Amino acid sequence: MDNFKYFPAKDVTEACALLARYGEEAKALSGGQSLVSMMKEKFISPSYIIDIKGISDLDYIRYTKDDGLRIGGLTTHRSVEKSDIIREKFFMLAEMEYTLASVAVRNWGTVGGNLCSADPASDLAPTLIALGAQVTLTGVDTERVVRLEEFFVDSFETILNEDEILTEIHIPNAIMSGGIHTKFARRATDLAVVSVATYLTLDVSNHDLCKDIRIVMGSVNPIPSRSKRAEELIKGQKINDVLIEKAAQIASEDIQPTADLNGTEEFKRDIARVLVQRTIKEAAVRARTL
Ligand SMILES: Cc1cc2nc3c(=O)[nH]c(=O)nc-3n(C[C@H](O)[C@H](O)[C@H](O)COP(=O)(O)OP(=O)(O)OC[C@H]3O[C@@H](n4cnc5c(N)ncnc54)[C@H](O)[C@@H]3O)c2cc1C
Repeated sequence: MDNFKYFPAKDVTEACALLARYGEEAKALSGGQSLVSMMKEKFISPSYIIDIKGISDLDYIRYTKDDGLRIGGLTTHRSVEKSDIIREKFFMLAEMEYTLASVAVRNWGTVGGNLCSADPASDLAPTLIALGAQVTLTGVDTERVVRLEEFFVDSFETILNEDEILTEIHIPNAIMSGGIHTKFARRATDLAVVSVATYLTLDVSNHDLCKDIRIVMGSVNPIPSRSKRAEELIKGQKINDVLIEKAAQIASEDIQPTADLNGTEEFKRDIARVLVQRTIKEAAVRARTL
């Protein structure tokens, strides 16, 4: 690892000011699970490290019925996994966290760090996009709230400005809704070869009708992506196996997987199709029962 100067920031204002001062030569450090490996491998060599992990104000999970769920950017994966309110109200999120890496990584790694890494294989990003999440980005004298699906630009690239940090994730409440994230990986807690997160809302006056659905796939495009064509096919319709099969086929055609040691493009499309099919079915069951 190359030499760098280290600054522990005491609060968000100081962190943003330091990031602004050192610009592209600086990197924020939270849990270090991605950043330190990238520095060790010399993929990146920042001259200034701004340690934000000590900003305890950004480590929280808050829920109200009216507002929904708010998670501070420095909350660890493990806290999300173990949170009673998340298990109760947003079960798919806690369930996904259980399959994300090892307990050691989840103890250190933060939700903000995961999203800002913009790894195409992130499990958190598709899950949160399916849940309709927004993120708050705070910079020097600025604060903006953006839909998470607009946050990613390319593999390992986001819309974050140099002085900004991700301070909060917000998930709205929804009724008659349920979802699930699932992944195909070499081992259960490995990075996904293909992942799918589906969140479905039923019509309150007719529980057989799908009011809304978000189908998000990970690891198969440079950024997590929804299959809007598949969603449109199901929205407003009575959910049945034939419709689900058609939607899954369409979703698998909407992706651009790359062949690698984990499988051919065709293999990954096939896995995506099967996972989309399974997640729609399970999301519909959960929407009725959770
Ligand atoms: C062995 C291993 C297995 C893994 N398996 C999985 C997996 O199965 N699924 C999955 O989704 N992920 C997986 N990961 C990725 C892991 O979730 C991330 O490494 C972790 O969440 C990153 O968080 P961090 O706090 O450690 O970020 P850091 O490593 O500290 O930072 C990562 C990047 O984000 C930036 N950053 C950090 N926090 C902020 C912030 N609040 N605002 C702005 N920029 C910020 C940093 O500057 C850096 O560029 C794995 C990682 C490891 C090491």
